[in-house]
Amino acid sequence: MRPLDEVVNKWRRIASGDVDWRNGRTTRYIYFADDELEEIARQAYGEFMSHNALSATAFPSVAEFEAQLLRFAGRLLGNAEAVGSVSSGGTESIILAVKTARDWARKTRAIENGSIVLPYSAHPAFDKAAHLLGLRAERVPLTAGFRADVASMTDAVKDDCILVVGSAMCWPFGTIDPIVELGRLALDADVPLHVDACAGGFLLPFVDELSECRWGLEVPGVASISADLHKYGYAGKGVSTILYNDVEYASFQPFSLPSSGWPGGAYRTPTLAGTRPGGPIASAWAVVEALEHDGFRALAAKTMAASRAWQRGIGEIGGLEILGQPPGSIFAYRATGLDTMAVGDELQARGWQVGRQQAPRSIQIAVNPPHLAVTDDYLRDLAESVAAVRSSGAVSSTSATYA
Ligand SMILES: *Cc1c(COP(=O)(O)O)cnc(C)c1O
Repeated sequence: MRPLDEVVNKWRRIASGDVDWRNGRTTRYIYFADDELEEIARQAYGEFMSHNALSATAFPSVAEFEAQLLRFAGRLLGNAEAVGSVSSGGTESIILAVKTARDWARKTRAIENGSIVLPYSAHPAFDKAAHLLGLRAERVPLTAGFRADVASMTDAVKDDCILVVGSAMCWPFGTIDPIVELGRLALDADVPLHVDACAGGFLLPFVDELSECRWGLEVPGVASISADLHKYGYAGKGVSTILYNDVEYASFQPFSLPSSGWPGGAYRTPTLAGTRPGGPIASAWAVVEALEHDGFRALAAKTMAASRAWQRGIGEIGGLEILGQPPGSIFAYRATGLDTMAVGDELQARGWQVGRQQAPRSIQIAVNPPHLAVTDDYLRDLAESVAAVRSSGAVSSTSATYA
């Protein structure tokens, strides 16, 4: 066997081309608070990496972590009595929400393969879920403010609709869809509403200015909500939550095989996976335990200070505009009279990782606490980038991919 230090050296070499995400120059993929919190998350992740959440009997510790995480999430997201599961990420939480809606519609409305109605800004995980579950995903154009258009969505809800979706915040623009109005639409149509709070779930409740904004499980018509602990829950990657208001509706999520179904006896899993790693769950629990409510609020304040400073600065550069009025930590901007992607190329050449979008052509950013310290660097480099494109007239052929 090779010694540890040799193996470490080799993996560091292999990782040498990765973005350096501690320095605030990475504007997506990473949710980082500080070294101290990361160390807590890392230790818990390592200590529980071999624990298997498949068995609450063998590992009651992990089951307890999950129960506490779900209670924490339920209190934040509008129903302290909510029921649900810890999953491996936003995509899994969304697939589970769609599966529950599908099986509920099969049972209660005899709709075998219906449609789900989404704003154009909803995450591709809904299309993935529809693809896997034999459903049709119907995307509806947004308002001029880059939010779900309730009137158009109402028109798109046909007899075979089994789920309506809104986001808080949506990934491409960081806007919060009008969840109260979508809830009314859902109630009128007798269809459940899922709120995708994968990005916003563990940030927005800690932003004082948004305390009046209603988008959680408390809104009439909302049946389920997804919120990722590996985003603004600052856990190691691989952990999210899916919560429901109604126990009976939620009972359509688990899969079970009766004991006669195979040699091993009754088999029941709440989520998609069989074996589930304890590491991500423990790391999420450790972060919540360490931060408590006040710690999350302090981090949210820093994140929001960064978001406001970047958005204000971008607006002041001239030739750039923020899309819509994103109230949280995610936003996008485009250039007017210049090629946005060419500005992105210039930024990239100055050492920034750039999130490119295609409709409209824009640059998307999800800030977290380390971005506050590099605000001036970003705005200076962005102003230089705009000036460079203005004088060169460059048009970039770089395309937008979320990868
Ligand atoms: C990140 C995100 C998802 C998907 O989550 P993954 O953890 O990447 O699978 C879904 N919706 C929104 C709004 C997100 O921000």
